[in-house]
Formats: sequence, C-alpha cells, structure tokens
Amino acid sequence: MATPVYRRIMLKLSGEGLMGDADYGIDPAVIRRLAIEIREVREMGVEIALVVGGGNIFRGAGLAQAGMDRVTADHMGMLATVMNALALQDALEHAGVFTRVMSAIKINQVCEDYIRRRALRHLEKGRVVVFAAGTGNPFFTTDSAASLRAVEVNADVMLKATKVDGVYSDDPMRNPDAERFRRLTYDEVLERKLMVMDATAIVLCRDHSLPIQVFDMTRPGSLKDVVTGADVGTIVQR
Ligand code: UDP
Repeated sequence: MATPVYRRIMLKLSGEGLMGDADYGIDPAVIRRLAIEIREVREMGVEIALVVGGGNIFRGAGLAQAGMDRVTADHMGMLATVMNALALQDALEHAGVFTRVMSAIKINQVCEDYIRRRALRHLEKGRVVVFAAGTGNPFFTTDSAASLRAVEVNADVMLKATKVDGVYSDDPMRNPDAERFRRLTYDEVLERKLMVMDATAIVLCRDHSLPIQVFDMTRPGSLKDVVTGADVGTIVQR
C-alpha cells in the first residue's frame, strides 16, 4: 500500500460538490462515493478533519441579495452546512467509518458542540471529525472555517476539493490555452486574485504556514493520490 505523506489532513468540501448533476441538495450516490474515498485514506492511517460548505442549500450572500437580512441569511447558510455534515456522517458511518459532527453553533441534540480538545481526542482515536456551522459567525465562509479549524487541530495540509484539477491561469472550461499552476505562493494567489479560497482563508493559512492543495475531487481516486504525494492539482505554500 502506498505510504501517506500527511499524518492529519483538513479536507474542505464545497456544498456544491455534494449535488452531483442536480442544481440543489444532496445526491446520495455522490456522497456515498465521497465516503468510500475518505475511508480509503482513513484506512491508510491518515487522521481526517472535514469541513463542508452549504452552497448546495443556502448561501447567505444570495439570500441577502434577494432581500433578506444578511445575518439571518448567514445563519441559514450555517445551518445548511450542518445538514450536509449530518449527511456526510451518515454516509461515512454506513461505509464503516466512525465519525463525529461538531458544530460551531450549539445544537447538541443533533450533534456535538465544537470543543477543540474533544475534537483532537476524536482525531487521535481515528474518528473522522466533520466541523459544521462554519466559524459560527456571519460574514465568514466555510473556507475560512476550514483554515481556522485546520490551524486549531494542527493539520498538516488544507486539501481544497474542487471540480478542476488545480488552479489555472484562466478558466480551463472556456480557454483551452489555460495553464495549470503546479505551485503558487500565498502572495501570488492574493495578488493575482486567483480563485483558490477567499482572502481571509488564504491569509490564515499563510500566517500559519499551512500548505493548501487544490485538487479535483470529482475524479475517483484523486484524494488518495493527493495524500500519497502524487503530482496533482496545485500546491500553495511559501
Ligand atoms: N457561513 C457563515 N459563517 C461561516 C461559514 C459559513 O455565515 O463561518 C454561511 C454563509 O452564509 C455561507 C453559507 O454559510 O454562504 C454556506 O457556506 P459557503 O458559502 O462557504 O459554502 P460552500 O460555498 O463551500 O458550499
């Protein structure tokens, strides 16, 4: 079996990554596949922290644009991430992977509250921890939440799952000459406004020297490739 190059990872899944071909909600087949890929990496001994977005259900900014109070809208967005986290937990446990959901907002009849020391204990015991409800604060994103939790639990890397295999000089869907960057620095990402994660998330990773790897999680086997150090996607570091 290939040897993992990371001991503990933070995997950031977007809400949209759970939709499959639909334009809303969760595709059970997609979430089952993700669970199996995550299990494969867990079986290699890698400790796994997960943050999932909510964009497949609600995004605060979108609701605010339609006239809703922004803070209320962000609360709805955060609750959407809890639903996704529960769905992931369910799929992971069906796949035989012990999983805990920890929420930044107290809803402890549904899942655990986020307590850092308890999260660390879960990870040490080999449980997958899904951090739900983002940072618990409006005006943030789940990318920022993933960076924050990754730094808090001392993850070795931030793995940002997307639909393309890394960061390109232009939109590879529209421009056939767009080139994949294999490596970038945090400052290049910020200065060139490259679509990796939002600036808050990048700055947090930069300030704590947490490398970011952007990769295509729609390709089966890609998570395992990343974790075993294959040259896929784009790595952002100093
Ligand atoms: N959100 C928030 N605070 C956070 C994280 C998320 O208010 O710390 C809300 C925000 O409204 C956001 C929504 O939750 O639009 C869903 O998260 P995000 O847009 O990051 O999801 P993704 O794009 O990854 O699916």
